[in-house]
Amino acid sequence: MAHKTLLAIDQGTTSSRSILFSEFGEVLDIAQKELEIITPHSGWVEQDPKHIWDDVLQTANVVLKRANIKPTALGITNQRETTIIWDRSTGEPVYNAIVWQDRRTADLCNRLRAEGYEELITDKTGLLLDPYFSATKIAWILDNVNGARERAEKGELAFGTPESWVIWNLTGGKKHVSDATNASRTMLYNIREQCWDNELLEMLDIPKSLLPEVLDNVADFGVADALTQPLKICGAAGDQQAALIGQACFDKGMIKSTYGTGCFALMNIGSEFSVSKNRLLTTCAYCLNGNITYALEGSVFIAGAAIQWLRDGLQLFGSAPESEALALSVKDNGGVYMVPAFTGLGAPYWEPEARGLICGLGRETEKAHLARAALEAQAYQTLDLIGAMCDDSGIAIDTIRIDGGLSRNDFMCSFLSDILNRDVEVPKVNEATAWGAAVLAAIGIGVFEDFEDAKTRWQRQKLFQSSMTVSERDKLCQGWKEAILKVRS
Ligand code: ADP
Repeated sequence: MAHKTLLAIDQGTTSSRSILFSEFGEVLDIAQKELEIITPHSGWVEQDPKHIWDDVLQTANVVLKRANIKPTALGITNQRETTIIWDRSTGEPVYNAIVWQDRRTADLCNRLRAEGYEELITDKTGLLLDPYFSATKIAWILDNVNGARERAEKGELAFGTPESWVIWNLTGGKKHVSDATNASRTMLYNIREQCWDNELLEMLDIPKSLLPEVLDNVADFGVADALTQPLKICGAAGDQQAALIGQACFDKGMIKSTYGTGCFALMNIGSEFSVSKNRLLTTCAYCLNGNITYALEGSVFIAGAAIQWLRDGLQLFGSAPESEALALSVKDNGGVYMVPAFTGLGAPYWEPEARGLICGLGRETEKAHLARAALEAQAYQTLDLIGAMCDDSGIAIDTIRIDGGLSRNDFMCSFLSDILNRDVEVPKVNEATAWGAAVLAAIGIGVFEDFEDAKTRWQRQKLFQSSMTVSERDKLCQGWKEAILKVRS
């Protein structure tokens, strides 16, 4: 009998991709389209919702056309927090998608902070009051697009993050739904009670009729009739949560860290909600059969983007993988540290005004030291996150699982293990995010019984173990702490 296949749609910030997986997690086919970023003003980041939808549709149809058997089910994962509002009768967006990176609502957030809302928000949503999340972006559209508030109040408009927009279009407007992980990033969803929160909606004067129905991560999301072969949509989750699932981090205390443009680490903390003491986020890891599992999340805005900057901005090397040989061409960092806070410091510092720094330069500094400092920075940034996670959760961990572009850099992986003094595991399926969406779909359609099936399919490709002495680690980490102090002052 032919093996079953699963289609995953990964609607990301830089591209939309459709990936065909075997039920064992092998990538059988992939189609991808880059997505344009629109920056009308400094700090504003938008995308065209119609491009998002067109690219998803095209890539999925390309893969379906090439596939020799029809996939069993469809799962969706997406860039989170990005905000789209459209007309329910015409399906026309009323404004561009406001992307998660957009900072235009910083003043609104400051006003809410001055009005004393921050604690309430954290207590209900697990998030920090920040423009990053959807709520203030929705308010901005209602306040700034002509007639939007009036139409919203009449129930004519719909809000969704990209999975919701894509599902609406895939189902020909039949389903206006989201999932628990994406809802948990809006700053309007109460993750203790698992419902849209009336008090938060009132705080921003957002009509409830705008909001999608929130489903579990495995659920009936409708039938994707818009595809050339209609598929059942059986699973959906935001990208970082999907990666946690793809990395099979189903037990309390398991951590995955994804190194793409930015770095996002999530720790499974089980079924008890708790607020971080270290300015991490608490978020929904997944919700199955009505049972929610929580995660602590730490986000670092610049990870692989620092390598891109050395490549494109400073033109130190021709391709990102070359950074590895360059870093290894010198025996150590030569005292050079890079704090890549190009767009502010994320967790656990949250200093939006901070900017990047390279320190410890001498006449002997070569470009190889800069490459090395940029790669080493990934390890120190992760150390700061993991330290905060272990402190918050009271869980001591000895292993982390990593994925994303930078996890292909063995120097980075090895140094990460040295600095964390913990094992670092790289999985065979490097497409952890899309695989997570496929896992959810597999459960929804009955190809997998539950997460146990995903657990047994998770395989390690590489293991890195620390070989650094305590004194060497302490000395290196001291240098990083001093660099962070300089950035913060
Ligand atoms: P995203 O999904 O955020 O676009 P990816 O997971 O595709 O990101 O990772 C791309 C990032 O990883 C880029 O910023 C790139 O510079 C970096 N990268 C990819 N491969 C390597 C490598 N071998 N060494 C160092 N950096 C790498």
